[in-house]
Amino acid sequence: MRNHTRTKSSFRPGAESTLNFPVRALRKSYVIVNHTLRCPLWNHTEPVSNNCTDGQTMVSENELIERVRRRFPSAGSRLPTGIGDDAAVLRPRPGTELVVTTDAFLENVHFLRKIHPPDAAGYKAVARATSDIAAMGARARYLFLTLGLPKESAGAWLDRFLGGMARAARRFGLTLAGGDTTLYSSFVASLTVIGEVDRGRAILRSGARPGDVLYVSGKLGEAEFGWRLVQAGLHRQKRWAEFLRKHFYPEPRLALGAWLAARRYASAMIDTSDGLSTDLKHVCTASGVGAVIRSEQIPLPQVPLGLGRLQLDALDLALNGGEDYEVLFTVPKKLAARLPGSVRGVPITAIGEITRSRQIRLVDVAGNSKVLQPGGWDPFRSR
Ligand SMILES: [Mg+2]
Repeated sequence: MRNHTRTKSSFRPGAESTLNFPVRALRKSYVIVNHTLRCPLWNHTEPVSNNCTDGQTMVSENELIERVRRRFPSAGSRLPTGIGDDAAVLRPRPGTELVVTTDAFLENVHFLRKIHPPDAAGYKAVARATSDIAAMGARARYLFLTLGLPKESAGAWLDRFLGGMARAARRFGLTLAGGDTTLYSSFVASLTVIGEVDRGRAILRSGARPGDVLYVSGKLGEAEFGWRLVQAGLHRQKRWAEFLRKHFYPEPRLALGAWLAARRYASAMIDTSDGLSTDLKHVCTASGVGAVIRSEQIPLPQVPLGLGRLQLDALDLALNGGEDYEVLFTVPKKLAARLPGSVRGVPITAIGEITRSRQIRLVDVAGNSKVLQPGGWDPFRSR
């Protein structure tokens, strides 16, 4: 079932077009990264704006950079050279590989200023990017932040946005290592997150094999449920807080991802940013396999009574809603028996298995099976 609400608005908070590439060829103990880290504006004093309209006057770009830097914990010994030089110098731990992901976070595409508090927008920007590191089984280490912003975003709003970012960075173990700032007509952020994984342990999308058991963490569809509550204007009601939290403050599954990588349980993994039907398709395509999933095994949100007018279908939310930032992973059958029901407090649930046939089939409670088409978020799909 298509989500009819999406055709009414171009805004869709789950838009994601990341480039995920494990950097496997790094042999030196020092890596000088110079494509996103070169930050000329962070080293000069050209004026950006004198005229902030949300309560603070910004004198120079240098002051803006200083405000960004002050918000984040000091890098200390975690970084040989960080903000303030032409490029950052990173030092991966011996025996590890770097895992790098980039993520765009744009006003009116990924957040709405009227709806999303700046603290939540900042937190979510970091969580979204870090989720891709979790999905590789890696530990989060460094954050690079490029900001383009209009004058009216440069004052108190920005401070609160950075506060949310810094809180997420602390929680996920990220050190701000560099970036860039520029004046622009709307608010845009580009985040690069660098993680670290023991050599050869990164979990790719391409490793699923026929017979592997398919698992998901947490519940699927809760973030989409939260977004529907926002669309219905119910997001200020405290009674829905539990469902809104996942939309406003998603939690990347770093501990679970690292646990699976360390024990070599998972043969393939992806984060559920676009919806189960779409993310499972990504894994199946990359692995050259298909899958069967059973609808009654999918962990669904408990849609409360009294929301009939929203016409919420929990299974549709799980299959086609995005932004849960859970992980979807496959485990060889002989290892699956050893998996606990939850890892570090996060439940994991078997929802089906990988098949040789390249189709993805959904089996309902009555045993009827149908081909599952990817119905989740794709920013470039015409509607
Ligand atoms: Mg992803």
